[in-house]
Amino acid sequence: MKNDEHAEMIACRVGEEQKLYWGLWNKPALKSGELLVRIYATALNRADLLQKRGKYPVPAGASPILGLEMSGTVEAIGEGVTGWNIGDRVCALLPGGGYAQYAAIPSNMAMRVPDNMTLEQAAAMPEAYLTAFLNVFQLGRLQAGESVLIHAGASGVGTAAIQLAHAAGARVAATAGSEEKCGVIKQLGAELAVNYRKEPLAESVLQWTGQAGVHLVLDPVLAPYWKDHLQCMAMDGRLVLIGTLGGSKVEVDFMSVMLRRLQIIGSTLRGLPLERKARLTADFVSFAMPRFEAGQCMPVVDSVWQPDQINEAHGRMERNENVGKLVLIVP
Ligand code: NAP
Repeated sequence: MKNDEHAEMIACRVGEEQKLYWGLWNKPALKSGELLVRIYATALNRADLLQKRGKYPVPAGASPILGLEMSGTVEAIGEGVTGWNIGDRVCALLPGGGYAQYAAIPSNMAMRVPDNMTLEQAAAMPEAYLTAFLNVFQLGRLQAGESVLIHAGASGVGTAAIQLAHAAGARVAATAGSEEKCGVIKQLGAELAVNYRKEPLAESVLQWTGQAGVHLVLDPVLAPYWKDHLQCMAMDGRLVLIGTLGGSKVEVDFMSVMLRRLQIIGSTLRGLPLERKARLTADFVSFAMPRFEAGQCMPVVDSVWQPDQINEAHGRMERNENVGKLVLIVP
């Protein structure tokens, strides 16, 4: 396809008081090795809430438009790309630019949408599942038969992590802030659901593991749970920190970290170099696609929002009301 350097598209802009609106932006130019995708839908992430307030620096070279994932159809195919046809259904992780009509993506980041998945579900898949897969299996090294504690279990990432860990034969415990969310967590495969507003975390987890402690913790909350983790993690346990929803500062007594031989791992997906994201995507596709096709895993969609409801959708995430992902149809 011939590139028009001056072509424009509709994309989301941030206006006064962080209100989002649709305006014009440069349409991405297709380069060799890339696919140009007509985006159908994107999905919301906590990073979007921070980015619109200027509190999440955009990685170098990434689009400043919000949006870390999308689903859509292939509109044009760059030089050297094989295996894709115009009109194929595709989804991918993006470094930015998902709240827009078009994205140009490296073909090794493109994931084929399984026949049994809608484009709404596919938009909800990349960020949550790749974050879960990276941190639970590649960094957290979870094995079948081991136990894992997943915080914010009803979040986009939490729902994906519960499904993947359960599908891999691990024992799953998860936390959430309401009885309704705890019910969903259990339906997704968690044996233990802890309502953190009512139940003590460390005691519940120790009882569940027969006092042995949990092998892996996936933690997007951090500060309020730090002391509990030092009590309820198993010897050689791994704590993977992926967020700071409850604050990032803690007082550390490294003695218990050392005596339990704990490993503390920090991780962010967005800033990973492209080659690592492409490898991660390939490993994830091998592991997860057969499970999606078999219906063993499926993205949990909280709600689907039309383009003119963009600010209402952000409000729902800001109030922590969602269970799973909020999907936004683009214009
Ligand atoms: P989400 O769907 O918006 O869900 C977040 C949930 O976390 C809320 O609904 C709330 O559920 C719970 N929560 C909020 N504040 C809390 C607090 N102070 N203590 C305990 N729970 C709290 O979120 P998401 O997009 O899936 O993201 C989940 C987390 O993963 C975020 O922290 C995000 O920044 C992080 N993340 C990290 C990476 C990475 O690469 N490091 C990538 C993606 C996401 P309750 O009602 O249960 O409290």
